[in-house]
Amino acid sequence: MQKKVRITVVGSGYVGLVAAACFAEIGHDVICVDNDQSKIDALKGGACLIHEEFLPELLDRHRNGRLQFSANLAEATAGSDAIFIAVGTPQSDTGDADLSYVEAVASEIARHLTHYTVIVEKSTVPVYTNEWIRRTLERNGVERGMFDVVSNPEFLREGTAVRDFLHPDRIVVGSDKQEAADVLSAIYAPLTDGTYFDGESAIPGPLNTNTPAPILHTSTKSAEIIKHASNAFLALKISFINAVSNLCEATDANVEQVASGMGLDSRIGGRFLRPGIGYGGSCFPKDVAAFRSVADALGVDFSLLREVESINIEQQKRFLRKIRSALWTLRGKKLGVLGLAFKGGTDDIRDSPAIALIQMLIEEGCTVCAFDPAGMERAHAVLPVSATMSYAADAYEAAMEADALLILTDWDEFCDLDLNRIKLNLRYPTVLDGRNLFDPKTVSGAGLTYVSVGRPTAH
Ligand code: NAD
Repeated sequence: MQKKVRITVVGSGYVGLVAAACFAEIGHDVICVDNDQSKIDALKGGACLIHEEFLPELLDRHRNGRLQFSANLAEATAGSDAIFIAVGTPQSDTGDADLSYVEAVASEIARHLTHYTVIVEKSTVPVYTNEWIRRTLERNGVERGMFDVVSNPEFLREGTAVRDFLHPDRIVVGSDKQEAADVLSAIYAPLTDGTYFDGESAIPGPLNTNTPAPILHTSTKSAEIIKHASNAFLALKISFINAVSNLCEATDANVEQVASGMGLDSRIGGRFLRPGIGYGGSCFPKDVAAFRSVADALGVDFSLLREVESINIEQQKRFLRKIRSALWTLRGKKLGVLGLAFKGGTDDIRDSPAIALIQMLIEEGCTVCAFDPAGMERAHAVLPVSATMSYAADAYEAAMEADALLILTDWDEFCDLDLNRIKLNLRYPTVLDGRNLFDPKTVSGAGLTYVSVGRPTAH
């Protein structure tokens, strides 16, 4: 029979809220804690707070049942067997991870611990954070036998977070104590033994595959490094294909053909070989920087990561140059923009290349009218409505009377646009696609000049 574990998840953001809902979904009693009272009030009142497929359904299913919300970490700590720390670990000015939120949570837990509890690092943290959390608890007077600290990095992707959590490629548990590792094994058992998938209302996996997830037990330090190394490697893959796409542009080759030819090699794999305007979001940029900082601090030469970062920055500027060369001059030009979120399927605009490009374009004297299916509300905070910035109700309105239409986020629904209608709305029939969403022949067939990434321009 399944062992029910009493879980607290600290942080109700993109990771914490999804983790809390999914832990409830697989049968545990969960309290999701946030120190932002307004978020807790909204969650208790039925709001979802973030745009994420299946999340509203899971919250509705478990709210007031197995899933509770609270701003009171003290109370939650007293009634939990495991506490997952899922607060932000943003980039500090020096590039390394700012762990002050993690430290604050660890200190608060220390003040309220009453029985043996497993403290779990869910946030992405640099190697040795585990030891710092342990020391923080001990400094605050908690006896060593009262707790263990485990690293359980999260690999979900925004946009498919619920599916990723319930159907993960792997679950990594870094623990130096068997007793603590066993608690994590019990928590994830419904996913690793497949019993969750038998439930009638189980969230289906991608392609409906319900294969039990593998669980990998490692040391805590290995688990911490697995997360940073994984994200840095994915960022590297993106920068690599972006550099290859530049080479394709210089030779009139087609990066899609090149990526297919590379990706069919099972040692390489086809995923993450899509060129674009550079990676962004709240993870890759900060995690690559933090991993580089860790290497620097340990005296390990990992200058490869600097190259990954500089190719990424250059890729954005390169797209700006493409816009300029398509329009000759930028001052006074009106641009329609499709996409604000850092990727499709999410409302997250943190470190979005789309936002950075819009800011650059406005600085160059352009006016921008943008549309995003989910990111507009958050975008208003960083790009308020002004004489140079406005928002459209849909993609066609964004294109209205524009000198060109830019595609900056890979939303699936943009692929279904009626290109003839887009052409009718544009002042000049030019589309610059930073995400290669269309087949160049299809776009040029609709009478549009189409500039994309790493593929010959179609007229
Ligand atoms: P987020 O900013 O969306 O959420 C963090 C939440 O923590 C906020 O709601 C904030 O109010 C809350 N918080 C901060 N201090 C607190 C405290 N002292 N007590 C209680 N709550 C507190 O962040 P996120 O995107 O969910 O990321 C969280 C961590 O997970 C980061 O380390 C991130 O790198 C990692 N991660 C993120 C993703 C992702 O796709 N977003 C994926 C994997 C891992």
